[in-house]
Amino acid sequence: MAKKMKAQVFYEAEKMILEEIPIPEVSDIDILVKVKNVGICGSDISYYYGLSPVGTPTGKGPLVLGHEFTGEVVKVGKVAKSLGLFKDGDRVVVNPVQHCNACYACAAGQTHLCEKLSVPGVTTNGGFAEYCVSKYTGLFKLPDGISYKTGAFTEPLACAVNGMKKLDIEPGQFVTILGPGPMGQMMVQMAKSIGAGKIALIGTRNYRLEMGKKNGADFIFNTKDKNSTYYVVDLKEAISDLTDGKLADRAIVPTSSNDAFEQAIDITGNCAIIVHFGLPNEDDIIHVPALSFHTMDKQIRAAWLAPLAWPAAIRCMTEGIVNVEELLTHTYPLEDTEKAITNLKDRIDNPMKVQIVL
Ligand SMILES: [Zn+2]
Ligand SMILES: [Zn+2]
Repeated sequence: MAKKMKAQVFYEAEKMILEEIPIPEVSDIDILVKVKNVGICGSDISYYYGLSPVGTPTGKGPLVLGHEFTGEVVKVGKVAKSLGLFKDGDRVVVNPVQHCNACYACAAGQTHLCEKLSVPGVTTNGGFAEYCVSKYTGLFKLPDGISYKTGAFTEPLACAVNGMKKLDIEPGQFVTILGPGPMGQMMVQMAKSIGAGKIALIGTRNYRLEMGKKNGADFIFNTKDKNSTYYVVDLKEAISDLTDGKLADRAIVPTSSNDAFEQAIDITGNCAIIVHFGLPNEDDIIHVPALSFHTMDKQIRAAWLAPLAWPAAIRCMTEGIVNVEELLTHTYPLEDTEKAITNLKDRIDNPMKVQIVL
């Protein structure tokens, strides 16, 4: 096997270089994966533009980004080998949130809050490369019917599954989803199958809202673009009109916009559950009108990462509950990773999900 591989190494804001670097060593608890498809996450964009620090000890590069990826097993460390868990040639998807299974949080079952979390693409080198190592405990075998392309949606889908579990939809409820990106599109599909009565999808770009309509949203609203046919001046009034004045039963906010979250509080009614999903910026403060929040008996919950949600995410794909492939609008080779990231950020050619294909 070759000793070197091509990798996109992120150094600092807007500086990523295609380099030849050593193929990573495989320790006893590792598995080496030949990368196939890597999704670009909103957080990759944030890291690339220096909007949030990467997870290395210094918060800086050099680091290979990319944490939503599938690949083929090419080398199995001693432990997984002795347990008979994986073998060369296995098709796998990597769960990048890799816990230690020995700290207090892990013992409490809060593995996503592990004190020794290791995350390929965030704390250690990730998937924008020909090869990547993963702990054996972070690998899932892909079912036969799931391609590398589809499988690379497992991580974001698992986060969406976790968000939907937190949202706790009861049959027939009026559900609002504020954010029509890839996450929102998956949530619309899941909310329908879970039994939502009506779903309103809210955003600022028509092409994303229209895709949401195809995915099952009953109503779409554009809160920003005055030229849009879906434009509403007063979202609360629009939701009120659709619900006999009761407002929404549930709201989930798959966008980092703090305004959108405050809007979610505003458009929900009695005993509503509101889920904070999109990663906020460092200085964001949520303003909650205390009296109405209290006397309407509302709940706000956060949905962070995807604890225990991976099996359900894989089932959602194999059972056809969520169609992820249609969300993939653009693919690029490894050489063009920077272009893929900047084009996605600038919404060139109406992207939804973008993948690097090796
Ligand atoms: Zn991600
Ligand atoms: Zn731990």
